Amino acid sequence: MGNWKMNGSLAGNATLLAGLRASTPSPDNCDVAVCPPFPYLAQAVDALRDTTITVGAQNLSQHGEGAYTGEVSGSMLADVGCVWVLVGHSERRTYHAETDQLVAHKAAAALQAGLTPVVCIGETLAEQEAGQTLGVVARQLAPILAMGNDAVSKMVIAYEPVWAIGTGRTATPEQAQEVHAAIRASLASVGAEDVRILYGGSVNASNAQQLFSMEDIDGALVGGASLKADEFLRIVAA
Ligand code: PEP
Repeated sequence: MGNWKMNGSLAGNATLLAGLRASTPSPDNCDVAVCPPFPYLAQAVDALRDTTITVGAQNLSQHGEGAYTGEVSGSMLADVGCVWVLVGHSERRTYHAETDQLVAHKAAAALQAGLTPVVCIGETLAEQEAGQTLGVVARQLAPILAMGNDAVSKMVIAYEPVWAIGTGRTATPEQAQEVHAAIRASLASVGAEDVRILYGGSVNASNAQQLFSMEDIDGALVGGASLKADEFLRIVAA
């Protein structure tokens, strides 16, 4: 899944989307998706309509509709053709004060609209250095797990150590695997151990294969490297 963040323009996206279309992957065992900014969702849905690549949004409101100026609801995202929506990306948690509880409310709003929430969790550098990684991830997951098996089994989890996002510093496959295994064990406590767990944090075409070879790493949430069609397609191939 490519997270374009706040990048792009109609013209620039057209080139990127044409690049993705040109060698549309036909994976028989994985999903491929891109998450453009809100104004470009319809452009991406149109451009990718007859391909295997689906489209997601980067955020949604926890509310269904109404007087929430500047917000976008899950049903609006579904209406324009989104299938997925990121919730709780670390940039939302950091810059928009999204709490663990709010993230769970947003995941519930996504499910209500028929979207698959991709719930992002992960520790900061200070937390990692203090040996708090597993505790932080457990705290972030708690309100999600409290939603129960019916809800959790329809989600995707993305483990993204904050210190690895956009820094060029990737967790080693072994470091990531250890956290993914712990997340899988937490998911198992509500019978949702089959939920896909993506790794995110400076994934690129050179390190994807090694990360994906780990038992509990089921895919990737890719930021910077998803802005170049050839690089993103090489990650998909991996
Ligand atoms: C992200 O945006 O979720 C991300 C992991 O970014 P990057 O791949 O650039 O580190």
